[in-house]
Amino acid sequence: MSARTVGGEGNCVAHGRCRSSSSPKMASETKAIGWAARDTSGHMSPIEFSRRALGPKDVKFSIKFCGVCHSDWSTVTGEWGPPMFPVVPGHEIVGVVEEVGSEVTKLKVGDHAGVSTYVNSCGSCRICEKKLPQHCNGVVWVYNSVDHADGLPTYGGYSNLMVVNERFCLVLPKNLPLDGAAPLLCAGATVYSPMKRYGMGKNGNRFGVVGLGGLGHMALKFAKSFGMHATVISTSPAKEKMAREELGADNFIVSKDPKQMEASVGTLDFIIDTVSAIHPLDPLLNLLAPQGQLIFVGGGVGKCEFDSLPLCFGGKSIGSSCIATLEELQEMLDYCGEKNLVCTIEKIPIDYINEAYKRMNKGDVHFRFVIDVGNTLKPQN
Ligand code: NAP
Ligand code: ZN
Repeated sequence: MSARTVGGEGNCVAHGRCRSSSSPKMASETKAIGWAARDTSGHMSPIEFSRRALGPKDVKFSIKFCGVCHSDWSTVTGEWGPPMFPVVPGHEIVGVVEEVGSEVTKLKVGDHAGVSTYVNSCGSCRICEKKLPQHCNGVVWVYNSVDHADGLPTYGGYSNLMVVNERFCLVLPKNLPLDGAAPLLCAGATVYSPMKRYGMGKNGNRFGVVGLGGLGHMALKFAKSFGMHATVISTSPAKEKMAREELGADNFIVSKDPKQMEASVGTLDFIIDTVSAIHPLDPLLNLLAPQGQLIFVGGGVGKCEFDSLPLCFGGKSIGSSCIATLEELQEMLDYCGEKNLVCTIEKIPIDYINEAYKRMNKGDVHFRFVIDVGNTLKPQN
């Protein structure tokens, strides 16, 4: 999730929303090209912009692929707060290292690198000490933010190159294809993190995922790789064949069908909810076994209601999760390298992005759009 700078309007740890012109700018910034939104229509078009010059701890890589997350759409359309236009989205970013600063030890030229949703944090607060930079008040999102390190606006991965502090740069196992690996940087990490943190893969737990999109299909893949019995809860009956045959789902429930929902009451120990819109919770809580847990990762904006009595009598809980720590991101990438696990993608040229957003909003994607940046992003004369 990479939308607004958290901590409120006054949060100038990261020059929150102010794009301060008094911040130091580094010499000889690097020219970059990409695609940007300029207003909340969500329409994307080409842009030229600058990246900071390579610092001693920075890695510079040419972006090869970038996944298209629903959060990109929620950010550029202002669903999550006023955007700082122009916004170059993209936080599932992978590429090949071109240059490293003099103090960089983690990566070398030619390595496969990735960047997720955040590229800096204050580094000194209690939350940062707990290694939870994504929750720091001074978090710097990879786009739609201002980096307190250089005072420059951040721009995401719908662009040709990235300059990032090595701490926030992930190492991709070389055996993974870059295109299928790109969405691991958000979709993969966002579901892997709570699945590990809550110990979902242990003790024969039965798993359910709500919403079979980018995040949802990765939750299903991880559940099967952990050896779990996995159920998909979906509004789209047409996805059942793919869920069972391509992704190995053991059960598929159409959430709009009360009979199917009734047949599975009390059967699941964990549910990860990836739905991108507000939706009724009681039917999902009913699917949980006693002491079961419903974990929200979807970013729909609005108030959710639930009936507290059956929740309490069942000893059930509701939790949530936001992306992943840097350690979890790297662990997840290494795990995917070991298991040869990647996302199921539709590769698109960058000039297809406006159509891709339309299709994503209709749930018509198999299962993640990934922009072929390396081959299709060209300078506009
Ligand atoms: P996506 O590919 O568009 O998938 C979302 C799925 O939700 C759809 O495919 C659809 O699945 C289901 N859905 C959509 N509208 C629905 C509705 N009105 N009622 C019920 N189900 C509905 O989106 P994504 O990229 O996976 O992202 C999912 C959500 O997670 C977004 O809100 C995104 O912003 C958020 N997110 C959060 C984090 C985090 O850190 N917590 C990180 C990344 C993304 P079916 O057709 O199967 O029903
Ligand atoms: Zn995302």
